[in-house]
Amino acid sequence: MIDPFHFFEYSAVVHVHSQYSDGTGTLPAIIHAGQEAGADILMLTDHDTLAPRADPHGEGYYGRLLFLVGGEVTPPQNHLLAFFTDGLPGAQEPWGDIVAAVNRSGGLSFVAHPVDKGNALLKLPSYRWAERSVTGFTGLEVWNHLSSWLPAVRTIPSGLRAALSPWWKLQGPDPEAVRLWDELGRDRAVVGIAGVDAHAARAGTRYLGITVFPYRVSFLTLRTQLYLTDALTYHDLARDKQLIYDAMKKGRAAILSCREGTEKGFRLWAESSSDRWPMGSTVPWTPDLRVKGNSPVYVVWRVLKDGIVESESDGLIIDVPVQQAGVWRVELLRGRKQRPWILSNPIYVRNA
Ligand SMILES: [Zn+2]
Ligand SMILES: [Zn+2]
Repeated sequence: MIDPFHFFEYSAVVHVHSQYSDGTGTLPAIIHAGQEAGADILMLTDHDTLAPRADPHGEGYYGRLLFLVGGEVTPPQNHLLAFFTDGLPGAQEPWGDIVAAVNRSGGLSFVAHPVDKGNALLKLPSYRWAERSVTGFTGLEVWNHLSSWLPAVRTIPSGLRAALSPWWKLQGPDPEAVRLWDELGRDRAVVGIAGVDAHAARAGTRYLGITVFPYRVSFLTLRTQLYLTDALTYHDLARDKQLIYDAMKKGRAAILSCREGTEKGFRLWAESSSDRWPMGSTVPWTPDLRVKGNSPVYVVWRVLKDGIVESESDGLIIDVPVQQAGVWRVELLRGRKQRPWILSNPIYVRNA
């Protein structure tokens, strides 16, 4: 029987671009920003290249920060984040082949910014995910910070205002992305993660410029909390990568908005009279099944089945009966405005 309290929680910044693609930062600057933002893990994803692995500041430990190099495969649409691969498939290949190639190499693949809207003022096209016929990828970047912040930039004044705040007009993840995630989960487990999509883009003139956003600021927006079966060793890179890989593959991950807090301690699991399953598991339905969870701080728990709110309650714990099979997950709301703080990965309850 698993013990939900014996997972080791690490806070990961996912989806970052450096000078190896269209970001403005060097690896040492990005690593330093990750340390300053208090991240445990930083996962770089430059466009169509794993070259940063060969950089003198490549994968490894930088104090308490573990720096890992993945990539973002970027066809004109349907961007795909790839982690734990030795190579990246070409962006010109059919999308199904791109996903299959990452899988074949033993890597993990996440559809990036699936409901991206683009931006008319900035003349950015939409990079939304359109290739819905392909399955087999690991998961979905349910909340991409850049993609969900961009709609706030409508006019030059609103753009200037938004450039000063990564949270301007931003309440939570795009409901369309969450709906898509709930929909996909009906057929198979699809792991949800959060990405920052940090570029530290410079805007303005030579003498009057602004960085949107500095890496340290981006790294304090969204995190993917990972629940590992053992503590990181901080010396055995292969083992530590395996622990992170397992958590990401199995959906032992939660989406966290740093705006509402960065405390660790959230846990979610399913429990019957004879067994327990962690978040991300596929569980056979039995009449005694319950969903249980813990929060380190007082929150409002919203319990959802197949994207529909089943119940809402406040407190430090949740303990609800699972009356039916379905995709069960929770959202933790927090603060005066009751904004989403944590989105769990689902527990997939299937009829036996
Ligand atoms: Zn992208
Ligand atoms: Zn990106």
